[in-house]
Amino acid sequence: MHFDCLVVGAGFAGAVMAERLASQLGQRVLVVDRRDHVAGNAFDAPDRRSGVLLHRYGPHYFRTNSPRIREYLSQFTEWRPTEYKILAWTDGRFWPFPVNLNTFEQLIGRASTSEEMADTLEKWRVALPDGRPPANSEEVIVSQIGRALYEKFFEGYTRKQWRREPRELDPSVCGRIPIRTNRDDRYVNDSFQALPRDGYTRLFERMLAHPLIEVRLKTDYREARAQVSCTHLVYTGPIDEYFDHSLGPLPYRSLRFEPETLEQPWFQPAVQVNYPNDHEFTRIVEIKHITGQADLPMTTIVREYPADYAPGGEPYYPLPTAEARALYARYEARAAAETNVSFVGRQATYRYYNMDQVVGMALTEYEKLRTKLPTPTA
Ligand code: FAD
Ligand code: UDP
Repeated sequence: MHFDCLVVGAGFAGAVMAERLASQLGQRVLVVDRRDHVAGNAFDAPDRRSGVLLHRYGPHYFRTNSPRIREYLSQFTEWRPTEYKILAWTDGRFWPFPVNLNTFEQLIGRASTSEEMADTLEKWRVALPDGRPPANSEEVIVSQIGRALYEKFFEGYTRKQWRREPRELDPSVCGRIPIRTNRDDRYVNDSFQALPRDGYTRLFERMLAHPLIEVRLKTDYREARAQVSCTHLVYTGPIDEYFDHSLGPLPYRSLRFEPETLEQPWFQPAVQVNYPNDHEFTRIVEIKHITGQADLPMTTIVREYPADYAPGGEPYYPLPTAEARALYARYEARAAAETNVSFVGRQATYRYYNMDQVVGMALTEYEKLRTKLPTPTA
């Protein structure tokens, strides 16, 4: 059987590519995923007992600054505007997080101002030699807020999550977290923060509903390759796996999710509580705070435990170290030499990307392909 395009992976990267190729170019597309559902890591489904629309692979807070990406996805969903507010638990109490004026006031035990906070951080921060930019995740935080706040909120969490010292990790890892001297306590800065009104899975079902798209679940790339031929391949799985790990395996971090349903309406005061210093888990997520299901009588929480990645497991995070990047660059060079294959998405490009960035990457790849692809088969 022949398809114009075979798409490996039904996450954001694969679904956007399939949707564009089918709806704009009239291509016949086969999408395969080895999981038993679409939506990749954004998959959500109601918990059987509580009814809470759980994010199966960790909380997925949609946010973007890009009107192009928002407008594109808005064809397939309405939105539930929400702001992601998070707390940290350490020293026996909750702290507003990311660090902001409210955190600072709690720390000094009295009311303060943005000016006083900025002046104090100026004294606490450890300036980098010659004003050079931070070279790693320890420097990026210590150079903004000093050692004490770094140790309170970042050091323990980062060690747990990555099983690496923060100084071994790219500055962009801890640099993702904003530091503010005002009272803005949202987790991220983006101008648009909202969840798909009917959930991510529904959004994907609508994207993939085009009559020229066929979806086969529980189907691995190798299996599909043996069954069908295609003019073009879009690959969104791990890049090292595509090349049979011939240059050696790329390092990833994994997670274990431990859900618990409770016969009470709420468990914690915010959608997410981070545990930088206590417990083996990094965070507890109570997604009900943002799914619009406040009326449900029960709740479900999920504890997230960092885990080593082993082949056959889930490669949730590429490891943001110089060594891993160097190995990826060698795979990337091989990928560039492949003809009629697009490598798109978080695993195929080994990038610690958010959903909106992956959607943007796929739209850009589609634009590049548009003029190059042959006319579809009848
Ligand atoms: P994926 O969603 O991983 O999809 C790839 C798909 O390909 C998978 O379904 C996989 O089964 C399939 N596949 C791989 N190999 C094969 C194969 N050989 N054969 C068949 N199928 C295959 N982003 C945000 O914007 N906000 C957040 O709050 C956020 N939270 C996150 C929390 C966690 C714990 C994690 C891990 C990620 C989070 N992300 C978040 C990032 C988000 O998950 C990714 O940006 C997005 O899912 C990437 O889409 P993708 O299509 O590249 O990859
Ligand atoms: N981080 C931290 N303390 C926190 C939250 C985050 O040290 O309370 C660091 C940690 O290294 C983490 C990174 O910042 O991996 C990015 O955090 P984010 O919550 O964005 O991670 P993700 O949701 O992608 O797992």
